[in-house]
Amino acid sequence: MSDMELVPLFGQMIRRDWADALTETQLETHYRDAEGQYRRIPFGEENFLNPRIAEAGPCRHCRTIKGKLHFHACDYEQCPKCNTQQMGCDCEFIGHEWREE
Ligand SMILES: [Zn+2]
Ligand SMILES: [Zn+2]
Repeated sequence: MSDMELVPLFGQMIRRDWADALTETQLETHYRDAEGQYRRIPFGEENFLNPRIAEAGPCRHCRTIKGKLHFHACDYEQCPKCNTQQMGCDCEFIGHEWREE
């Protein structure tokens, strides 16, 4: 079995390794830091995105679908703590300490 193999997820065919990562991210419903925990924002509820983007199809960055969570720090994920686009904010959550890759 290869990671390049395509498997069905959310009504589309995507690479197995990405499908596994995206499935796993759904289990992390909250982010946490020293001050508390914050409910992650599913695709379609971001206040910086037009809701029609989620209606139109899967997230163009991480392939999640409306009502599901983005992969951590997807371009379209909204930070549940400061409510801005997460990739541009400075919040750090336990298990997701910011690092350059
Ligand atoms: Zn996404
Ligand atoms: Zn933030």
